[in-house]
Amino acid sequence: MRVGCPKEIKNHEYRVGLTPGAVREYVAHGHEVIIETGAGAGIGADDAAYKAVGARIAATAADVFEKSDMIVKVKEPQPAEWAMLREGQLLYTYLHLAPDPEQTKGLISSGATCVAYETVTDARGGLPLLAPMSEVAGRLAIQAGATALQKANGGRGILFGGVPGVLPGKITVIGGGVVGLNAAKMAVGLGADVTILDRSIPRLRELDDIFNGRVHTRYSTIEALEEEVFSADVVVGAVLIPGAAAPKLVTRDMLGGMKRGAVIVDVAIDQGGCFETSKATTHSEPTYEVDGVVHYCVANMPGAVPVTSAHALNNATLTYGLMLADKGLKAIAEDKHLRAGLNVHKGRITNRAVADALGYEM
Ligand code: NAD
Repeated sequence: MRVGCPKEIKNHEYRVGLTPGAVREYVAHGHEVIIETGAGAGIGADDAAYKAVGARIAATAADVFEKSDMIVKVKEPQPAEWAMLREGQLLYTYLHLAPDPEQTKGLISSGATCVAYETVTDARGGLPLLAPMSEVAGRLAIQAGATALQKANGGRGILFGGVPGVLPGKITVIGGGVVGLNAAKMAVGLGADVTILDRSIPRLRELDDIFNGRVHTRYSTIEALEEEVFSADVVVGAVLIPGAAAPKLVTRDMLGGMKRGAVIVDVAIDQGGCFETSKATTHSEPTYEVDGVVHYCVANMPGAVPVTSAHALNNATLTYGLMLADKGLKAIAEDKHLRAGLNVHKGRITNRAVADALGYEM
């Protein structure tokens, strides 16, 4: 198969769908790989590094889209990209369609077969292609929260770890999945006072075992949520209902109960966000303020640390990517986990949660 990888064009997105190490694997499987010139620049991989592992360099994205049977990317296609997709072509990337009707229309009319990283499953019921980016985003959420909490950046002016004789900052994490766990690990490492809320009691048990008393866990009722959000210096939004838009757990009214200069880091913004007042921001202008509360809502957080993220992403996407390249549609028919990743095929939505969220028939 001819496998193409264009340069990412979303604002401040420096990751790349295929690292030179991944290209080497596709080439070893007998595939032809086409990389847009400069695609790896953000991770320090130049065209020569790709040529050295057997890739062909294309001058433009249009060239990559035209010559490839399968496109491997990182972020959801932008309007200029979905216009270049065609019927029969495979697209393998993050899509996050539920909160994005425009992109959904674009992919439907392209006729392409679109596999979304974020809904591919594994035998343990996890989301293996979302997990590495959730690890990165969760860890980064604490760095972002710490920065936004500084006075000069609009925050309350609190040091997470406090100092001897001064209490630490308080961090509330809503959703104790992969993002929540990794945020909590960093927060604990910095000496903050951490509470994780979740709706899953088995998950709260696991977290309690992992942290052995170093974090508080709380079942997420409206009352618990209010108490923990109102008393926090930083609230990390990390809930997920797979494939669906994030539930708006913190309303605009609730902001009034929060401390002035407190910070919201809404990691779930890529699924629409779990705060009513969240709207997606970019790395060039990551924060804004509503009712005295600083909001950090960057939809592609891992893009800030592209070297770490691109390698972590490629580690996770490689196995399924090779299956797709080796067998094409047959791979989707044969493997139920890859099939779970199929979101759009020949002009139809094929994922139940996406169809329900956007009001499409399946
Ligand atoms: P996950 O499935 O591992 O965890 C989600 C957790 O939320 C689960 O433990 C679930 O029980 C919990 N949950 C669901 N409903 C809840 C509720 N009402 N109250 C409390 N908890 C609830 O998911 P994840 O990998 O941690 O991802 C979390 C979010 O972060 C997703 O929206 C994901 O797309 C997003 N994400 C964003 C970025 C970014 O750059 N902004 C990067 C990676 C992941």
